[in-house]
Amino acid sequence: MDSNMLKITINGVASEVPNGTTILEAAKLLDIHIPTLCHHPKLSVFGGCRLCIVEVKGGKRPVISCATPVADGMEVKTSTPRIEEIRKTIIELILSDHPNDCMICEKAGDCTLQELAYFYGIRENRFAGERRTYDKKDNNPFIERDMEKCILCGKCVSICDEIQGVGAIDFSYRGFNAKVCPPFEKDLNCEFCGQCVSVCPTGALTGKMWSYKGRQKDVREVDTICPYCGCGCSLTLHVRQNKVIRVSSKENTINEGWLCPKGRFGYSFIDSPERLKTPLIKENGKFREATWDEALDLIASKLKKIRSKHGPDSIGGLSSARCTNEENYIFQKFIRAAIGTNNVDHCARY
Ligand code: SF4
Ligand code: SF4
Ligand code: SF4
Repeated sequence: MDSNMLKITINGVASEVPNGTTILEAAKLLDIHIPTLCHHPKLSVFGGCRLCIVEVKGGKRPVISCATPVADGMEVKTSTPRIEEIRKTIIELILSDHPNDCMICEKAGDCTLQELAYFYGIRENRFAGERRTYDKKDNNPFIERDMEKCILCGKCVSICDEIQGVGAIDFSYRGFNAKVCPPFEKDLNCEFCGQCVSVCPTGALTGKMWSYKGRQKDVREVDTICPYCGCGCSLTLHVRQNKVIRVSSKENTINEGWLCPKGRFGYSFIDSPERLKTPLIKENGKFREATWDEALDLIASKLKKIRSKHGPDSIGGLSSARCTNEENYIFQKFIRAAIGTNNVDHCARY
């Protein structure tokens, strides 16, 4: 046996995993699902929700599988009546401090907490009591922050710090008063990448422009490429009634699901009435609509005039990262071969 590999049996299925693998990761390799709320494979272990508890043979108490490394010969059970009872109690406790908002919540139908409440058949709550309520709304332009729905999983804090490198939010206060917020509870003022929104397992963080446009079950997903810059991040458009109502990105893409604010929130131009649909020619200080033939003839005659009067180096061409490689290639060819200058550049050099 490879000395770097460890034997583990999960729910009676034997396997070998590399040294350093956690029980949760080992279960995933075997396609065995363990519920989690605070775990994310690309973030450091938080161990806050305790939902991923499992029983290890010989152990007195259940352990959290996200933070427990596999030991050689370990025998693990991921679902027993005792484990499921504890998980159900954890969900009940979380829901005891959570608004009953599923009917109007943006996240309903796509909410991990709602899924778990459904799975455990929780209707009445044994732990009724005081609930955190917050009146102040965050007036930032992009992200709806409803902290009454926050379950303090910490994923937004970690992703903002570890992936985005911004650290715009963190835990404040202690115990029952604990809350995730920007410094001094001011309005969020950050890069607005929306990475925090993408990992939030509840409706605590959503896009402001998404409100009441449609639930996840109502949308058709269309995978495409972001048109903004030369990075070419993968986007998934959430389309309802032929309108884009939300944008996300999948984890298994080149950009690993991370986007910038333009890619995630800058899509309203698609339906803008100000979008150019035909070329415009300026005459007497005013634009008028023109045909492509008219516009191209005008450009050609003006370029010829400038070149013969001032020489080819008096002309420069600026292309766009929104164009395809082929279009950019043709453009530089045109500037170099047809105009005769090397004055050519574009807006996305890295
Ligand atoms: S966050 Fe989830 S559980 Fe909470 S109200 Fe919204 S859909 Fe329901
Ligand atoms: S939008 Fe981006 S920068 Fe702002 S809090 Fe969320 S993760 Fe951090
Ligand atoms: S806002 Fe969402 S991601 Fe952040 S701690 Fe609360 S539930 Fe978790």
